[in-house]
Amino acid sequence: MPNAVQEFVTSILSSGSSDLRRPQIDAHHETNIPGLYVIGDLAGAPVIKLAMAQGFDVVEYIAALPDARGAAEGEYDVIIAGAGAAGLNAALSAQEKGLRTLVLEKEKIANTIQNFPEGKWVYAEPDSTPAKGKLWLDGARKEDLIDRWHEIVTTNRLEVRTEEPITSLKRQQDGHFLATTPQGQYRARRVIIATGQRGNPRKLGVPGEEQECVYHRLYSPRHYHGEQIVVAGGGNSAVEAALVLSEQNSVTLCHRGEDFKRIFKDNQRKLDAAVAEKRIHLRLNSQIKQFGAKQVVIETRDGGQSVNSTLPFDHAFVLVGAELPVKFLKSLGIRLENEWEGSLARAAALALATLAGVWLAAGHAAWGATTLGAGWRLPGAALAVAGLAALLWLGRKGDRFAWLGISFIVFYSVYGIKTGEGNEFWPYRDWGYKAFSFFHRPWSFWYTVLYTLTMTVFGIQALKRWGLERKDKFQIWRYVSLLSFQWIFFFIIPEFLFQWAIRYQWVGARLATDPQFAQAAWRSYGIVYAWPLFFYTFFGDPSRIWIVWGLLLTFVIIPVFVLFNGKRYCSWICGCGGLAETLGDRWRHLAPKGRTSIRWEWMNMAVLIAAAAVTLIVLLQDGIPLLRHPASWGMNVYHLMADVWLVGILPVTLYPFLGGKVWCRYWCPLAKMMHLMSAAYARLGWSRFKIVANDKCIACNECSRYCQVGIDVMNYALKQQVLDNATSSCIGCGICVTVCPMDTLSFGGENGLVQIQAARPEAATVRA
Ligand SMILES: Cc1cc2nc3c(=O)[nH]c(=O)nc-3n(C[C@H](O)[C@H](O)[C@H](O)COP(=O)(O)OP(=O)(O)OC[C@H]3O[C@@H](n4cnc5c(N)ncnc54)[C@H](O)[C@@H]3O)c2cc1C
Ligand code: SF4
Ligand code: SF4
Repeated sequence: MPNAVQEFVTSILSSGSSDLRRPQIDAHHETNIPGLYVIGDLAGAPVIKLAMAQGFDVVEYIAALPDARGAAEGEYDVIIAGAGAAGLNAALSAQEKGLRTLVLEKEKIANTIQNFPEGKWVYAEPDSTPAKGKLWLDGARKEDLIDRWHEIVTTNRLEVRTEEPITSLKRQQDGHFLATTPQGQYRARRVIIATGQRGNPRKLGVPGEEQECVYHRLYSPRHYHGEQIVVAGGGNSAVEAALVLSEQNSVTLCHRGEDFKRIFKDNQRKLDAAVAEKRIHLRLNSQIKQFGAKQVVIETRDGGQSVNSTLPFDHAFVLVGAELPVKFLKSLGIRLENEWEGSLARAAALALATLAGVWLAAGHAAWGATTLGAGWRLPGAALAVAGLAALLWLGRKGDRFAWLGISFIVFYSVYGIKTGEGNEFWPYRDWGYKAFSFFHRPWSFWYTVLYTLTMTVFGIQALKRWGLERKDKFQIWRYVSLLSFQWIFFFIIPEFLFQWAIRYQWVGARLATDPQFAQAAWRSYGIVYAWPLFFYTFFGDPSRIWIVWGLLLTFVIIPVFVLFNGKRYCSWICGCGGLAETLGDRWRHLAPKGRTSIRWEWMNMAVLIAAAAVTLIVLLQDGIPLLRHPASWGMNVYHLMADVWLVGILPVTLYPFLGGKVWCRYWCPLAKMMHLMSAAYARLGWSRFKIVANDKCIACNECSRYCQVGIDVMNYALKQQVLDNATSSCIGCGICVTVCPMDTLSFGGENGLVQIQAARPEAATVRA
């Protein structure tokens, strides 16, 4: 049973991992194994220029280390696995810095680029970033680029051993590495893994696949004339191969799906034309079962039945993607991101022990009618310290559940105390609020200070990451907006300005002396927070001014804002979204992804319905006395569930594991309300909010990885499909636009006629 619970929890917590799991590396690309580095595609560089930059940077770092040089006879200072953009550029830099360098390449130099379709134009994006290092890069046909790279390898006398993959790597007692290939063994002080993500073509695993006439790559399609060719696969590579082969051959394209979900719009158009002209014969819902001598057996699903048929073939191309290098990395002992190791039960027990220790140490511990004496304080403190220390120790050893336990203790304490004096959660009951209220200010004030400072510190980091370092005006303004709203509307006004406005009668003598208005500073949060996020706007005998403003904000201003900006309130204005975009930013790539995670979004609707129902009952209770009891019960339950657990403790605890948007995406009723409006506007064709894509997508997955609400943006980009709130819960943060290395995505204006590249000023395009 505990195992089943752990498995269930792990499946939720790891739902943010895409198939392309990255290794855990530090700022210098070093893995958990000292001296072992990972760069390039494998470490998140989606294009050649950025992969090259990583190769250059990692060598700058290594070359500056005191023991960088001086490898013994027969040893290397650095071995580089992979002769792609990252590996070759690293090798050139290393050689220039005087390091003895060896490159081991599994197949050919620049193998990934070799596998691009014949004549493919290789872009040198992003334009705004200059290329680093000695490897040449400019927009060019793939053949020309590869020729230049061969020339560079030769003129620089780089030691590159092709057709020699690293098969194993051992760190020896002296800290040096022993790399094994099918041809031999090599020793080096340091190893850089630059093996990319696309190196191992996936196989079907059917009989006959090993025959010479069955390929897993297409090198020179124009060498085939007048043949019967079978292509298996449903992605862009398979479709592009089928299209080019169909120019001189009869091609059958065999795909196990019922349509091509992830191909470029242009490829779909060309495929439709080729099928109509009978140059390509489509076999959908079909799988190859066997390659015989000149015959292939295909199984086709038709309704509930499977039918086998045979086709003659001269050559077959199995283009069904690449095996991810996860196994290879794990075999080297490299830790991957979001690996859920450890024990949930142990972490829960330790977290509980820590809180129990706090309970005893605080001296407020009671058991039944007996109050435990002061003698329990010291053991209590020891228990709390030991529990926390054990969690920290386990966490540092790679137990992620232990970090979850620590995160829970911190945020449970912060929010459990904030519920108010006398209402604190165990073990802070009856003492926590008072203990954390100092300098004549209550804990709720210090909580706001803490919140604002946390947002500011992490907001500046996020501003640097997305805005300043990328010279991205959109993101600079977004973070300035989030921090300004927090400081002005969620801190200075409710905590200071409101009181001064009353004291100095800036709001006029009548309001300033009206206790209904003057004594409710907390209502000023409602200047920006709309119902139902600010649930209490209409409750507890508010001054008429707040009722009018609340109605105006919720039912006029927000709907108009949504028309033009979709759900940008969540990513530009809101304080809850603000904490997620700042403190939660570094974990945004862990946002749950996939269909199940989207289905979970129904919970927002449930909270919205609950908020509307409780609001209605509370407002009607004066007229219908029967509703008084349900109203007070509803208020209490909603407050406990939505205002404490769902907005505070749970989502913030989960920031490091599921990204920052758990509340906003799954539970915020205002986000749901705005979503319903925005979706309706989009369906009616009124919405001015959408993201559009041009045809330059290279399927690098960066946009999907960093979308904090788990949208598969790449899927939209590949199909050049408009992304709006009719089909997604996009909050308009623009991070997908910012991270796209190919400048594929942009916010589209009215009817897509005016496109303003939101991110980079130098790439700004205004198309009339
Ligand atoms: C269809 C497509 C189009 C693209 N178009 C562009 C474009 O126009 N512009 C652009 O900038 N980027 C483009 N890219 C992205 C670009 O290809 C990658 O960003 C780049 O190749 C990454 O370089 P890398 O050195 O990290 O990895 P790779 O180029 O993949 O190099 C890795 C090398 O390691 C080798 N290897 C694998 N395993 C081992 C092993 N065990 N031992 C030794 N060697 C090994 C491989 O054979 C390979 O040569 C495109 C990608 C695709 C798939
Ligand atoms: S799709 Fe893009 S703009 Fe929308 S929420 Fe995701 S990352 Fe932000
Ligand atoms: S749209 Fe997404 S997948 Fe395509 S190139 Fe840009 S970031 Fe990569």
